[in-house]
Amino acid sequence: LYQAHFCKVRLCPMCAWRRSLKIAYHNKLIVEEANRQYGCGWIFLTLTVRNIEGEALKPTISDMMKGWNRLFGYKRIKTATLGYFRALEITKNHEADTYHPHFHVLLPVKRNYFGKNYIKQAEWTSLWKRAMKLDYTPIVDIRRVKGKAKVDAEQIESDVREAMMEQKAVLEISKYPVKDTDVVRGSKVTDDNLNTVFYLDDALS
Ligand SMILES: [Zn+2]
Repeated sequence: LYQAHFCKVRLCPMCAWRRSLKIAYHNKLIVEEANRQYGCGWIFLTLTVRNIEGEALKPTISDMMKGWNRLFGYKRIKTATLGYFRALEITKNHEADTYHPHFHVLLPVKRNYFGKNYIKQAEWTSLWKRAMKLDYTPIVDIRRVKGKAKVDAEQIESDVREAMMEQKAVLEISKYPVKDTDVVRGSKVTDDNLNTVFYLDDALS
């Protein structure tokens, strides 16, 4: 690419695609370096709130940012993790005309996380609930990215598998905050599309 001017609008398919490539590349380097320096484990966390109407999108996202800061201020979380990469994703329920903002988080954890520092899914859920000051129980998903090598498997093979799983997690976390073809449907100016662009463009700015 010799020269180009990009709009950097988050809903722009071209800019979102370029951004995700760049982030994926950076994240891959960071993951490799973290592995080299700390030999850490990786977990993949998804933090959600209930679906909301368009007008509530922007304030909900800023609540989630505050909730995030509270969550990662808790000693329990701080002692178990080494850092994070957090990505906001917003999906739309076209039938109900509601939005679903959620965080995808890639967390490097200390070796002892899977021992004494282990945080169960129920505990992640209650900590996120507390941090967000919610009066309902939110859906929280937590999974391990990197499996421990099986004793019977050959080391080289498990290394490859681990690298592939990490790669998958890196790509997942680096993708666009919104999938343009998912939120904006067709090229027609419909009420649904107008609403989507109106709320998402403002909320993502
Ligand atoms: Zn653009």
